[in-house]
Amino acid sequence: MLNLLIFGPPGAGKGTQASLLAKKYTLNHLSSGELLRQERENGPLGVKIKKYQDAGQLVPDSLIIKMIEEAIKKDLNGNGFIFDGYPRNLHQAKALDRFLKTLGKNIQIVLNLKLNSKTATERILLRSKTSGRSDDNKKIIASRLQVYRQQTTPLLEYYKTQNKLKNIDGSPAIKSVFQQISEIIKNRFSPFRKKAAANE
Ligand code: AMP
Repeated sequence: MLNLLIFGPPGAGKGTQASLLAKKYTLNHLSSGELLRQERENGPLGVKIKKYQDAGQLVPDSLIIKMIEEAIKKDLNGNGFIFDGYPRNLHQAKALDRFLKTLGKNIQIVLNLKLNSKTATERILLRSKTSGRSDDNKKIIASRLQVYRQQTTPLLEYYKTQNKLKNIDGSPAIKSVFQQISEIIKNRFSPFRKKAAANE
């Protein structure tokens, strides 16, 4: 089983790279932002989620931790997970470690897509033309970037001390970033080489 985390500021390309990885390694792509957006559309928690997302703030830990755990439980026998946008703070990271441990699983690699705030903002504004996301606008982007810096970046140290962190330059084209990531995984996991080659 291959369990990966992908980090980076909003606009770094986490979702794009995570879906490419999910395809190549047959992983379950778990995007916390996407799970929340789906719940926001249809679920009873919609109003609450909208309030946080449209302020660029994190939704309460209790809510998202439960949603992620439910999603993991639905796919225990697959090839693994790529967590995109989760965890976003230390409390969530520890909850994830604890939960995976109860299942005899763990995170093997943490990918950190690095991108400066200026480029991140430009990319999101470009994406806003087609994403239909109410939080892809200039004012909310600023608070999302601030939340990322304040609450999420401390997690990088947490995974660095566990020897799991891999930094990647997120500024080049999608294909080139994906090549960098694939190399990292290939070097770490020979059992996945055959499968990935077959999917290329
Ligand atoms: P994303 O799609 O990852 O950019 O997330 C969009 C929004 O969903 C964020 O600005 C938060 O409001 C919320 N969100 C996504 N993931 C999390 C998380 N792990 N914890 C709390 N809130 C989250």
